[in-house]
Amino acid sequence: MRVLFLGPPAAGKGTQAEKVHEQLDIPLVVTGDILRKAVKSKNAVGIEAEEYMKKGELVPDQLVIKIITNRLEEEDCRQKGFLLDGFPRTSEQAKTLDRELAKKNLSLDKVVYFSIRDEICIERISGRRNCRQCGAVYHLKNKPPKIENKCDRCSGVLVQRMDDTAEVMTTRLKTYHEKTAPLLTYYQQKNIVEEINAEQPIEEVLREAIEKTTGNG
Ligand code: ADP
Ligand code: AMP
Repeated sequence: MRVLFLGPPAAGKGTQAEKVHEQLDIPLVVTGDILRKAVKSKNAVGIEAEEYMKKGELVPDQLVIKIITNRLEEEDCRQKGFLLDGFPRTSEQAKTLDRELAKKNLSLDKVVYFSIRDEICIERISGRRNCRQCGAVYHLKNKPPKIENKCDRCSGVLVQRMDDTAEVMTTRLKTYHEKTAPLLTYYQQKNIVEEINAEQPIEEVLREAIEKTTGNG
């Protein structure tokens, strides 16, 4: 199965992708996580990417395309397919992905579109906290950890991402509407889009996400 979760920042894609990955055993490829790891390790990719990420702008296509196409060549993705979260985000990225898959006689099976208003994304971003150690995602109100400020999974400290500020979020939403939202039409023309109402509570969105990903909706 080759699936993409598409939607604005803080729509809840990562929260659901993690669960769908566990329940359906599909390899999960999260561009933002791969880039944040590179930033943390201070390698060449990370140093270049950080400049864009901290401003809420997109990292240049050629850099992201290289990282993701290499990742999709790995054995797990070749065997089981993949669940993409955060890529493609531009028309160039989408076309390259299609071209690379077509070389192997493959294509994306489904695009699950997270439909949500900007104001809800802004509310979600202000309360988002991530584990500094394992990256697990929480929300101060909607998904609090069992012990304040501590990750349920690894007891790591919860922190706010450098780009989860009101100012950077404005740029991220603008970038989304300009560069990424047009991909919805691109994929609708291919007839592979399934829309979900991402404004519902986490468990409801999960139910829809599983249904729409597996085609049992
Ligand atoms: P994305 O991966 O799309 O950027 P996240 O999965 O990180 O979004 O979710 C953004 C924030 O919203 C997180 O703090 C998360 O805990 C919270 N969240 C996710 N889904 C929901 C939901 N359905 N209802 C309320 N809060 C949610
Ligand atoms: P995310 O975790 O998906 O919110 O992504 C965090 C940041 O990583 C974005 O604001 C971009 O700067 C960068 N990024 C993630 N995915 C991509 C992509 N496909 N293309 C360009 N930049 C990306």
